[in-house]
Amino acid sequence: MAKIGINIATGSLQQEEIIVGIDLGTTNSLIAIIHPETRQAVALKEHNSSLPAGQAGSLVPSIIHFDGNGNIIVGEEAKQYLITEPHNTIFSAKRLMGKSYNDIKNNSSFFTYKIIDDNTESLVKIQVGNLSTGQAGKFYSPVELSSFILKELKQRAEHILKTPVIKAVVTVPAYFNDAQRQATRDAGKLAGLDVLRIINEPTAASLAYGIGLHKEDHKTIAVYDLGGGTFDISILRISNGIFEVLSTNGDTYLGGDDFDNAIVKFWLQQLSINEDELKNNKEFAQAIRLKAEEAKKHLSANEMFSDNLNQHELKISKTEFEELICPSIDKTITACKNALKDAQLTAADIEVIVMVGGSTRIPFVKKTISDFFGKEVNDSMNPEEVVALGAALQADILAGNNKEFLLLDITPLSLGIETRGGLMDVLIPRNSKIPTKASRQYTTQVNGQSGIKISVFQGERDIVKDNRKLAEFNLTNIPGMPAGLPKVEISFLINADGILIVKAKELRSGAEQSIEVQPQYGLTDQQVEKMLLESITHAKDDIATRALLEARTEGEQLLETTEKFIQKNSKKLSPEELVTTAEAMQALQLALTMEDKDLVHSKIEELNNLSRPYAERIMDEAVSKAMKGKAIS
Ligand code: ADP
Ligand code: MG
Repeated sequence: MAKIGINIATGSLQQEEIIVGIDLGTTNSLIAIIHPETRQAVALKEHNSSLPAGQAGSLVPSIIHFDGNGNIIVGEEAKQYLITEPHNTIFSAKRLMGKSYNDIKNNSSFFTYKIIDDNTESLVKIQVGNLSTGQAGKFYSPVELSSFILKELKQRAEHILKTPVIKAVVTVPAYFNDAQRQATRDAGKLAGLDVLRIINEPTAASLAYGIGLHKEDHKTIAVYDLGGGTFDISILRISNGIFEVLSTNGDTYLGGDDFDNAIVKFWLQQLSINEDELKNNKEFAQAIRLKAEEAKKHLSANEMFSDNLNQHELKISKTEFEELICPSIDKTITACKNALKDAQLTAADIEVIVMVGGSTRIPFVKKTISDFFGKEVNDSMNPEEVVALGAALQADILAGNNKEFLLLDITPLSLGIETRGGLMDVLIPRNSKIPTKASRQYTTQVNGQSGIKISVFQGERDIVKDNRKLAEFNLTNIPGMPAGLPKVEISFLINADGILIVKAKELRSGAEQSIEVQPQYGLTDQQVEKMLLESITHAKDDIATRALLEARTEGEQLLETTEKFIQKNSKKLSPEELVTTAEAMQALQLALTMEDKDLVHSKIEELNNLSRPYAERIMDEAVSKAMKGKAIS
């Protein structure tokens, strides 16, 4: 077993409360903190002397192995089983987050484990078990699988820091949609983490480089992230301490794994081995794949790689390798061009280029990118750690230790509702900064129509059925009016986490409905809560219970004071104010009966926001009455 220790301080860390930053990667995941003494961002490391110098011991391969005896192994050890036990060894679970089988069917051959496709519209499930022996196996959702990785990270961090780790900032790709962000948040909950904020990976990476640290900094930067399985390019603008993502582009099936596979193919050709032979010799297939990755890494610092495997000579030169990956790197350049176009910029406008992801260690990648932008690239930090380090910095900002910043991200896809004829009406266009709000008025189509169905979609196509449906709800209780007379205002709010809240209100009657978009492909809060209760231990349970009780007490107090206030001042309130207040109170009352502190908090806020204007008005009246006749000298 690898020894775990802390390389950042001697002894345990004494801290009131620690908020960690987590990079939940497709290939590798890691956890970072701000060191309480040095105030530097550091990745938590496992001391493992068997790793080559310069290789980060902080990375946990995002691989989960089920050993058949109920044990779940995560990380380096699980990697050994990738090819020998493909049905029980899950990689790239991140790609499946918030996805239905329909979403991935074109790439289903990529996954070597069993993805259940019985209902093409619902969330994918993965079946684990030795299928050849006819065992039924177990089913896991991508959220559960990701939670196993997060749990492992949490445990490692707790062991290293010798303190409970509960609060975290977790990063996601900038292009992640609402369903995927929600799924990531759910995975955190399941792992017993309180995910304070979800932030975009490129934003985290720029933060880690300290770009924009000074208020006077004004920069346009490109974050080029080439990881194990995915490629992203993001264009950011930083000014006055504000990070703004101008555009994103990329390829979710392009990365270091493809380079490994290209080397395997190259060797098989040289050795005149048929690819089908690999299927019958899984041990060899696994070994040659691992050798290919070793060769690739070796060639980042050397001109030539050669080794032996089962009496086969494996050789490849740097030039040969570069020829193999050239088409892939060209694809990334095309994506860069598209991102620049979306941001209405040219390569020359980019002032800083940040390199992220293990595959940017390849000199050919650095050179190609640097040539394209006509500038040196920023590669002084460990490209596999920068995202986690940035997340730790963001955690520090949230903890109130650094008030310099405000982070802005963007929506990756347009958001809108279905209107007449199945058309998409966009309320928030793609690449809008978040947090953001937008609203628009609609009306009824039929005389006396008492309800309207609101369907929320995400995507760029004009016809809603080509886009992705996120949610659907009904606005009811519209009083009978001729068609076209009701004024229904639909408003979209995307909060700082990228979660969408949709409200619909009939302005004449005040009838109102709102939902937080729990994407249809995601788990419901109750499901998550149920799984949470089943999976976390009592210690964690206590903390969650306390937070819930505190929220409930606050909610009950607010209900009491509002009730009294209304009784005393009912004559000073308009009928609409009375109705909306009663509704908000009811919603809060209902929230109090549920096991969800966040829901209680949001209902408290809604009621507060609603009552504040009239409470102030009534107070002003009282004050001016008291002042009447009193001259101010
Ligand atoms: P992800 O963000 O997808 O989780 P990482 O940023 O951790 O991925 O990058 C992992 C990829 O980087 C792997 O394909 C790995 O082989 C590759 N990699 C790591 N070190 C090197 C290196 N020295 N040269 C080339 N590729 C490398
Ligand atoms: Mg990454």
